[in-house]
Amino acid sequence: MTLYGKERLSDYMQQVADRARYFIGYPIATDFDYSDLYPLLQYPLNNVGDPQIESSYDLNSRSIEREVVAFFAELFRAPKDNHWGYVTNGGSEGNLYGLYVARELYPNAMVYYSEATHYSVQKNIHLLNMPGIVIRSQQGGEMDYDDLKAAIQLHRYRPAIILANIGTTMTEAKDNVPYIREVLRQCAIKSHYIHCDAALAGIYLSLLEKDPSFDFKGGADSIAISGHKFIGSPIPCGVVLVKKNYKERIGRSVPYIGTLDTTITGSRNGHSPVFLWYAIKKLGREGLLSRAVESLNLAQYLVEKFHEIGIHAFRNQNAITVVFPQPASSVCQKWQIASEGGYSHIICMPGITKDKIDAFIIDLLKQIEAQTIHSN
Ligand SMILES: *Cc1c(COP(=O)(O)O)cnc(C)c1O
Repeated sequence: MTLYGKERLSDYMQQVADRARYFIGYPIATDFDYSDLYPLLQYPLNNVGDPQIESSYDLNSRSIEREVVAFFAELFRAPKDNHWGYVTNGGSEGNLYGLYVARELYPNAMVYYSEATHYSVQKNIHLLNMPGIVIRSQQGGEMDYDDLKAAIQLHRYRPAIILANIGTTMTEAKDNVPYIREVLRQCAIKSHYIHCDAALAGIYLSLLEKDPSFDFKGGADSIAISGHKFIGSPIPCGVVLVKKNYKERIGRSVPYIGTLDTTITGSRNGHSPVFLWYAIKKLGREGLLSRAVESLNLAQYLVEKFHEIGIHAFRNQNAITVVFPQPASSVCQKWQIASEGGYSHIICMPGITKDKIDAFIIDLLKQIEAQTIHSN
């Protein structure tokens, strides 16, 4: 490599290491160590096509991917002989897949999703050319079920596809799947489909709650999660699960890859299933649960820190997201904090420590003091 190339790379690597020290605003775990897997970076692993059906592209991690899917199928209490899924590029792709399956089942359906729904959903229904209605959110970010009912009643002649948020992006609010089902029942909608966008909170909620109401047993028809959020991965990834009888409407045999083309993309990342598998095997349910409990405790600690300095902060039940009034842009920039509508949030994902929280609070206080001196 040229001298310029070498310098450029080392500068970039330094920059990454620096920015990684101030990373509390996005829902990404950073406590992982995948060094055992580094030798796999020598190989072009590709899981092109259906994970359940072997391909002529044999340099893949399909068998590992199937174990990952099986783990989540069990976690989300999917029907034993009636589920199917694959490792995606992230929650957005899982949402697209869930909606795609729903559309194949109910081509005339209306999609209902709340205003707090992730931006990927609006794009996905646009891509799929599906009609959609935005439902109001309650104060904390949960869907307003009266508004849902009113909207469904106006379109009773259509099947309903409901996009339920299991942890909204900004406030980690959870839509109540049993309520949604009750609304569907009251409106006498027989043909319906519920996709749970559990990208953010699905994994730890399933571990924390005895009887999670958003999973397959609770009434979901498909579930999408992100793998690089709570579990953590150097490469974005996720998992989507659907009931198998639905999925069978999708996918055709492609001789070139020697398998069924049942996924959204062609080539699929063969490394990310191994990262997920490794984390699951290393931590187990127990380890994942104790990380979740630590995250909850840290979120409570952060709320209390805010209150100590007289700033109103809140978090939803069982949420690791702490919401507070948007601070000055210098603080947001340094700590990579996202804001919307005058509010910001910190997501207490594994890898964030009390020390980091304390350092953030000190920065915030300094900035507030500087501002008051300035304005006096
Ligand atoms: C992160 C997130 C997504 C998108 O997931 P990606 O893995 O970034 O594609 C979708 N919905 C919610 C609620 C999210 O938090």
